[in-house]
Amino acid sequence: MFIGHYGPAVFDTQRGHGEPLVTLWQGFLAVQAMDLLWSILTILGIEGAGSVVDGVPLFNIPWSHSLVTSLLLALFCGGLFRALKPSAGMRGFWVIAGLVFSHWFLDLIVHRPDLPLYPGSDVMFGFSLWNFPVMAYVLEMGLMAAGFLFWQKVTRAKSPKYNIAIWCLFLFMAVLQAAVVLMPGLAVKAGTFDMSDGLQGRTLGFATLTIFCLFAAIVAWIEKGRPSKFS
Ligand SMILES: [Zn+2]
Repeated sequence: MFIGHYGPAVFDTQRGHGEPLVTLWQGFLAVQAMDLLWSILTILGIEGAGSVVDGVPLFNIPWSHSLVTSLLLALFCGGLFRALKPSAGMRGFWVIAGLVFSHWFLDLIVHRPDLPLYPGSDVMFGFSLWNFPVMAYVLEMGLMAAGFLFWQKVTRAKSPKYNIAIWCLFLFMAVLQAAVVLMPGLAVKAGTFDMSDGLQGRTLGFATLTIFCLFAAIVAWIEKGRPSKFS
């Protein structure tokens, strides 16, 4: 999953009730912590885009995307957040841990079986919704749309540009999702998928790392112009 991961980031337990525990840009980084790890490992040449096996692409993600890694990373990120923001307390810990783990759960739905139980394990998970590219696209963008509609509802824009900005970001995400997930998915279905058409190795790692940081930066800017309605 790519853009759909950001949907849960909006649903901080307190957003919609009071001042959120986790700012949206922090939530954006938390839900992509596993992919951020993958980007770094891809830059280092340890993981990567993977390979085509029996006509379907499988990612090379033994470290970043194992179930055990996701649980450990969730606890680590939750602990780090609590240490940096003690006022968030245990609730802040669990919100961050939950957001980090939500990545594995959502990946489980869409990935073909390339999510290992633990690093190096042959036991692989993945329900393969990506085999139905249009349905997967609707699910991912639907999660994001639900998140942004909720965000818009519980915050107040300081000026109209902060209303327009949300949906410009959404459009940007929709185009990117179509380019990097939907189109390759349709090519896999048509039997014309060629992995060498896409980015590889270090370039892929840097490109994805840049995108994840860019999304967090854009959302941090929009967030400044959209204080909570409840604060
Ligand atoms: Zn992932």
